Amino acid sequence: MKLLHLLPVGKVDVSLLKDLRAAIPDRLHVRCEVLPVVLDPAPAYHPERQQYHSSEILQRMQSLVRPQTWRVLAVADVDLYIPILKYVFGEAQMGGPCAVISSHRLRQDFYGLDQDGALLGQRLLKESVHELGHTLDLRHCQDYRCVMASSHAVEWIDLRESTLCESCRSRVDSSALVQR
Ligand SMILES: [Zn+2]
Ligand SMILES: [Zn+2]
Repeated sequence: MKLLHLLPVGKVDVSLLKDLRAAIPDRLHVRCEVLPVVLDPAPAYHPERQQYHSSEILQRMQSLVRPQTWRVLAVADVDLYIPILKYVFGEAQMGGPCAVISSHRLRQDFYGLDQDGALLGQRLLKESVHELGHTLDLRHCQDYRCVMASSHAVEWIDLRESTLCESCRSRVDSSALVQR
């Protein structure tokens, strides 16, 4: 079976990756492993924005792609951006093989609210499936419940399911999907 490598970035809590390792195979037909290495995000830090350029993290992940790799999904806890946007929840290479997400703006405490571990876990799962969907060449979906809907605020993520709508499912190689 295809192998999805989960890559910790910086000081991210590895238990978040272990939760994803358990949850993702329910959505995608892949075996998940947490890589025994940690990617240092420091080279992607831009002091003028006090944020980390996600495309630079994606570039540095290429060397971790192995013959048995389906995708590499990096999980960070730092604030990510691309130059045209104020921030991003994650970024992926269209058509694969690498994607990155961050818990930074998925945490309730970022918005001054009480921590909610279960909600954080759901948001991380949705963002993981969303970015992996981009690596399967999927673009944003008009259906707000679909995991491929665009989200410019965390509330939009909460409206989504963690699965693809019928239309998106029909557009991707079904060998990557869990049959329901
Ligand atoms: Zn997207
Ligand atoms: Zn869709």
